[in-house]
Amino acid sequence: MGKLDEILQGMKSVGLSGHIRPDGDCIGSCLGLYNYIKSNYPDIETDLYLQTFAEKFEFLKYSDEVKHEPENKKYDLFILLDSSSIDRLGEFQPMFDSAEKTVCIDHHISNDKFAMENIVVPEASSACEVLYELLDEDKIDYNTAEALYMGIVHDSGAFKYSNTSMKTMTIAGKLMSKGIPFTNIIDNTFYTKTYVQNQILGRALLESVMFFDGKCVFSVVSRKEMDFYNITYKDLDGIVEQLRIIKGVECAIFMYETGELEYKVSMRSNDIVDVSAIATYFGGGGHIRAAGCNMKGTIYDVLNNISEQIELQLG
Ligand code: AMP
Ligand code: MN
Ligand code: MN
Repeated sequence: MGKLDEILQGMKSVGLSGHIRPDGDCIGSCLGLYNYIKSNYPDIETDLYLQTFAEKFEFLKYSDEVKHEPENKKYDLFILLDSSSIDRLGEFQPMFDSAEKTVCIDHHISNDKFAMENIVVPEASSACEVLYELLDEDKIDYNTAEALYMGIVHDSGAFKYSNTSMKTMTIAGKLMSKGIPFTNIIDNTFYTKTYVQNQILGRALLESVMFFDGKCVFSVVSRKEMDFYNITYKDLDGIVEQLRIIKGVECAIFMYETGELEYKVSMRSNDIVDVSAIATYFGGGGHIRAAGCNMKGTIYDVLNNISEQIELQLG
């Protein structure tokens, strides 16, 4: 029996959710757990709440059952995945607040430990990896395995980021043994980009600016550009990663406009800069090598404030 099986004992209703603007790990961990509960505990009334997500994730079983609007429901247990602070829950927070018991399963070093029970493993590649270790291996079916594998692929950059460990690979291997189409999962959800996604990537790279002697790189996508290409934030995945792998770069910053003088900032570093500390300083969070925050001001203000913090670390 896994730890999660113990947590589920005696529960009649369970609500699940992840963070706003859900990414691959968030969707994978939420749908992985949803599938696990649905197939092993059919008598528990289970609901999953997430904001809408990209079509490429819809191959996962039960993605059509995900609720995108909050409901006035009180759960015995509410489990939040891949979320470091309560504000990451967005409009679904009232359901978390009203639940009898709350659990957070996460891997962010910046996690606020805001739930009644917090299972946070900062060394883990992904929330999916943390979740896997709480499950009973024998109760993981094909559909749960697909979702968990996908989440690990996304947060580990297909097993290449520095958060990838022997444990990550072992778990991925065990998930592969369930017969899942691992090549398709990686290609279709991680590497494949639509034509416009490639166009905006190209544009962001073309207009990127190097600073601090080539140790840092910055690029921004405006609302106007997003409107022109008819894209949303879901189409900007991977741009900051492409900036990070520029030769000589230690820290990459990518941002897109979310409103009038408002930007969502993504940061990545290679060896030195703790971007989680910088994102947390500006009210966001994340991991040492990958973090994000929301900032207000002109592009110039935002970049100035961030680069000041990077400079403090670079010395
Ligand atoms: P991103 O740059 O959006 O891909 O996010 C990188 C990491 O930082 C992810 O693990 C996110 O969960 C985390 N993160 C991004 N934005 C925020 C934010 N506004 N608040 C807290 N954590 C964030
Ligand atoms: Mn995430
Ligand atoms: Mn994650």
